[in-house]
Amino acid sequence: MGEDMAHIVRGGCPHDCPDTCAWLVTVEDGVATKLVGDPEHPYTRGGLCAKVNRYLDRVYGPQRLLSPLRRTGPKGSGAFEPVSWDEALDDIAARLQRIVAESGGEAVLPYSYMGTQGFIQSRSMDRRFFARLGATRLERAICGSTGSVGIYHTLGSSDALAPEEIVHSRFIVLWGTNTIVTNLHLWPLIREAKANGATVVVVDPVRSRTAQAADWHVAPLPGTDAALALGMMAVIVREGLHDAEYIERYTVGFEQLVERLADYPPERVAAITGLEVEEIERLARAYATTRPALIRTLVGMEHREHGGMAYRAVACLPALVGAWRDVGGGLLHMTANLPFEALNTDALEMPHLEDHSLREVNMVQLGRALTDPTLDPPIRALVVYNSNPATIAPEQNKVLAGLRRDDLFTVVLEHVMTDTARHADYVLPATTQLEHWDLVWSWGQTYLTLNQPAIAPVGDALPNTEIFRRLAARMGFDEPYFQETDEQMIRAMLDVAHPLLGGATFDDLKERGWIRFAVPQGYRPYAEGGFPTRSGKCEFYSERLAKRGEDPLPNWTAPREQAMRDGYPLSLIAAKSALHFLNSSYAGLEHHRNAEREPLLDIHPFDAGPRDIADGAMVRVFNARGEVQVKARVGERVRPGVVALPFGWWPAHSRSSTSANALNQDTLSDWGGGGAFHDTLVEVTSDQ
Ligand code: SF4
Repeated sequence: MGEDMAHIVRGGCPHDCPDTCAWLVTVEDGVATKLVGDPEHPYTRGGLCAKVNRYLDRVYGPQRLLSPLRRTGPKGSGAFEPVSWDEALDDIAARLQRIVAESGGEAVLPYSYMGTQGFIQSRSMDRRFFARLGATRLERAICGSTGSVGIYHTLGSSDALAPEEIVHSRFIVLWGTNTIVTNLHLWPLIREAKANGATVVVVDPVRSRTAQAADWHVAPLPGTDAALALGMMAVIVREGLHDAEYIERYTVGFEQLVERLADYPPERVAAITGLEVEEIERLARAYATTRPALIRTLVGMEHREHGGMAYRAVACLPALVGAWRDVGGGLLHMTANLPFEALNTDALEMPHLEDHSLREVNMVQLGRALTDPTLDPPIRALVVYNSNPATIAPEQNKVLAGLRRDDLFTVVLEHVMTDTARHADYVLPATTQLEHWDLVWSWGQTYLTLNQPAIAPVGDALPNTEIFRRLAARMGFDEPYFQETDEQMIRAMLDVAHPLLGGATFDDLKERGWIRFAVPQGYRPYAEGGFPTRSGKCEFYSERLAKRGEDPLPNWTAPREQAMRDGYPLSLIAAKSALHFLNSSYAGLEHHRNAEREPLLDIHPFDAGPRDIADGAMVRVFNARGEVQVKARVGERVRPGVVALPFGWWPAHSRSSTSANALNQDTLSDWGGGGAFHDTLVEVTSDQ
């Protein structure tokens, strides 16, 4: 194969990960032979992660679905036969039409999330198709929105600093975030800060890889973050370590906050969080007296009944100590506002097509929706893409029962035969990131990436967009917006003169692969107030919440799941701890599974001893919702009273044919529509 046949195509990782790496694909004679991180990209710095650096296995591996499949055996049996696209799409369109004619469009439910995060393959033709159909609307809030809404109630926005600013920080609190596993490209910047003298603290109930690498691991009981933040604030105010001038000028409700803090003396906070009084005081003092001080949050504190309030409470801390004054000080949450502010997403998603009078199902509650006998009309058709709900949705037993319903018509667009796809009536082969156009946004850094197709689709795979285009045509949807190509949709999104784009065009992106949004270096968004709240100030007290009849001050409340404590004494954390999986993606690839070995339950010797559980012993982890059988790993990765299961393993990978979500509830969080998965309580017994 001659050198001259090889060329490089620029693209970017499509995964639901804050790093959004830019990559370079070497293509020789139409075959992708190498994929590496873009060395010129200032955030990617040439490195991909253990999840993605074998992406070509995903593209060309034996597990790849190469043609449309039609079910031939019972649901879940995995018995399928290959069929042509015409056969598959004709039948799917006919069945959807029949369901719509008999029960209305609401009998059809789309189900998707960020299995592919790029704008084009995740929120374009699909959105138009289901809006045109009049399908049940899906609330896509399983991750990210609870924390953002919580921060919004304090700061008026969850806009973040650029992550690069962390190098200036001297006190870094990684609050509920396992940076090394889920935000790898931030870690070198944290190390740079450390080399310059920064102290790194991890607040996490689990002794994660990041906690092990930090200077200080604070391990509160799960779900007690708001209490810890309030306890820190109480100490800071008691000892006069707050920034009175900043508070006076740029905040509202300090007096009311101080009254509330009287409910959170360190002794009470110690009882709630399971921490020592001394540690709470030491943390509060160090945070208030070291500058610049930065709190880094991502989504770890979410997924609780009161998850939004936890973020609201933590977001009060930087204003209390005036941390916003400093470059590298404040709160670093997400950067998702940048692309959504800068780009014309309406041109893509066409929200005006959506009929808001149609019912909405929260994706967290899929199991409920599929099994609720009172739902009128019932969900009769489910179309899944960019997601694997059999693994990622809570109340897994209900989800699986729903997917097994003989009267449910299920279509799944996928790369590999997932646990969800096994239950489908039709499985449609979707292209990977190497085979389609996309414009990839980031929620963790400040770059926008153009993904160009490097190779022709493998087998008969088609982009999601093309599948929905073809389906629309068969359904008789002849609106011109179904004719747009992927490239046209990207150009339309970029056809704006937003200052954040700094004049960048499609052609600039095509040539370079990525652009940086025009965010200033040394950005101090609230150094002199200017919070985008109604009051223009950081709201310790929220008038808006008061008007809604909600607690206007930060607070901590025990979740309702606590009422189950008697029967199920252990708190379960289902953490994203697997280095080689991204949520449930990659658990279907042998190399990645082998690298992770098997799902293990982490349990402290203090809890394992009385239960006669030895290291490596088979255990049953259970509650009223379900059970999982796995091996125990006895050690100090978790504190007493807490057990942890890795998230992402498919039900098929355990003896019990269930995974962590069999134990998790589908209660919704206080704000933002997320789920309270992590409030779960369980009991564990030996299963030898
Ligand atoms: S999963 Fe994240 S860290 Fe890994 S290659 Fe993709 S964007 Fe980069």
